[in-house]
Amino acid sequence: MTSTLPNTPTTQPLEPFQAFFARYQDRLSELFGDEGTVRRLALERDFPPSLIRAVLATKPLSVYIDEAHGGRGGHVHEGLSVLEAASYHSLALSLTLGINGALFLQPVGKYGEETLKQNVFPRFLQHQNMGGLMITEPDYGSDALSMETSWTDEGDSARIQGRKHWAGLTGLADFWLMTARAKNADGSLGRDVDFFVLDGHEPHQSIVVEERYPNLGLYPIPYGLNRVDVRAPHAHKLQPTRSGLKMMLDLLHRSRVQFPGMAMGFLRRMADDALKHVSERRVGGRALATYDQVKHRVAALQSAVTQSAAMCLFSSERAGVEHDLSKDGLAANIVKAVMTDRMQDSAQSFLQLVGAQGYRLDHVAGRAVVDSRPFQIFEGSNDILYEQIGSAVVNAMKKTKEANLAAFLRSHPLFGRAADSVGHLLDVRIDGDLPQRKLVAFGRLIGRVGSVDMVLDLAQRGYPAERINQAVDDLRAEIAGAFTRFQQASTAGVSEDGTGTAEWSRFVTTSA
Ligand SMILES: Cc1cc2nc3c(=O)[nH]c(=O)nc-3n(C[C@H](O)[C@H](O)[C@H](O)COP(=O)(O)OP(=O)(O)OC[C@H]3O[C@@H](n4cnc5c(N)ncnc54)[C@H](O)[C@@H]3O)c2cc1C
Repeated sequence: MTSTLPNTPTTQPLEPFQAFFARYQDRLSELFGDEGTVRRLALERDFPPSLIRAVLATKPLSVYIDEAHGGRGGHVHEGLSVLEAASYHSLALSLTLGINGALFLQPVGKYGEETLKQNVFPRFLQHQNMGGLMITEPDYGSDALSMETSWTDEGDSARIQGRKHWAGLTGLADFWLMTARAKNADGSLGRDVDFFVLDGHEPHQSIVVEERYPNLGLYPIPYGLNRVDVRAPHAHKLQPTRSGLKMMLDLLHRSRVQFPGMAMGFLRRMADDALKHVSERRVGGRALATYDQVKHRVAALQSAVTQSAAMCLFSSERAGVEHDLSKDGLAANIVKAVMTDRMQDSAQSFLQLVGAQGYRLDHVAGRAVVDSRPFQIFEGSNDILYEQIGSAVVNAMKKTKEANLAAFLRSHPLFGRAADSVGHLLDVRIDGDLPQRKLVAFGRLIGRVGSVDMVLDLAQRGYPAERINQAVDDLRAEIAGAFTRFQQASTAGVSEDGTGTAEWSRFVTTSA
């Protein structure tokens, strides 16, 4: 395929979002509305090519491209709505769109050279191309900045060599955003990370898939191990405004704050299907819905939907590419970690309510458990994100010399509203150095406070009061529990001999 397709003409007036979105939603319903098809799809690896092409033909990815290049202008709320509609039907589809949008199109649109954009964007809009991002390496995941994939200048191109794995759409994407560190003349690697666009249809830019992984969930998305030995024209290197590391943070934070789009449809599906199930299923001569514990679970599922709506609102007004999000780690980490916990918790709870019939790969509940689980791992493992949230707040408290947590939160833009509502639960001094496990527990607590704050913002905009009260009530109980867990975090150490002394049967006394 040639890499010099003409730019898209932009003379056509932009289709109103409602019309575009209705067409897209109708197509999704046609493709995923039939339960038999969904059950069959659930058991197969890879989306059937005709299905993914049919979705992409409605141009969902146009929401991530600016108008000058034929897109819809990159409005964040449109992108979140596209993700939400997809994840109601298929979390894997939503993640596929999210990868293309947040991990490829947005960074290329923000940091790519004009000639590059003129080549790349029409291929997404008119030829259903896809793109992904390769950061993770077998030896460097959470510690991605130590990556060993490197590049050297070879005249008119950069030669990039290394190994990458677990990149979503492995072997399927047409384009890759490849990360690498510059190799110095003495063989050492630079500290900064550079990003190159690779066009898999060009001779020296394609990546060899060495191994396909049998991923536990997200069956439609291929993952694997890749060998990288490519040459990228220098014009394919993204141009950071300051450093590559800042660009990477801007990219990752923007991606994290857009997680609520993927979460939103998924959580609505959990809540809707759970409500339907407990209304129809009779146990002990009565509908499941009449049991108090069942109501508790369904209310929590609905509360998660409200929290997700609040976070969509929050992100819609902050995540545009015109903003530099490199310093917004606290908000981005809260949104990503809380949303992905909500997704996994909701899937587990829904499966509990459905019982054995949900414990199948081809049931929405069973699929949801395995499909949502890696969201807590990728783009920042939640344990690490909670530690970073905890550290950020502890450091800010030290800086402002405010040791009382409730008082500190009251003056913080991310927590002020929440502090008025749940501050009485948080009247505690935070001082001294906290061990990592306490920082993680503290970060988890702060994440829930941030969630309350966003829900209260949603309330001020006129969201139904019943939903708001349900979510705040649920979060207040969770915050009280998280506070206890933070204060009483176990100090248990690791037993160095593993389970060698865990033999129990010799302690049994029998009367015989
Ligand atoms: C489904 C899926 C999709 C993915 N998609 C992509 C993609 O599109 N592109 C891409 O580049 N990568 C992708 N990844 C890779 C993902 O980003 C990495 O798995 C993630 O960064 C964690 O790296 P790791 O798996 O090597 O785990 P490790 O770095 O080995 O960490 C494993 C665990 O160790 C613990 N841990 C690590 N460091 C610390 C610490 N400092 N303190 C306390 N605990 C710690 C955490 O519990 C962590 O979860 C994907 C992964 C999955 C599972």
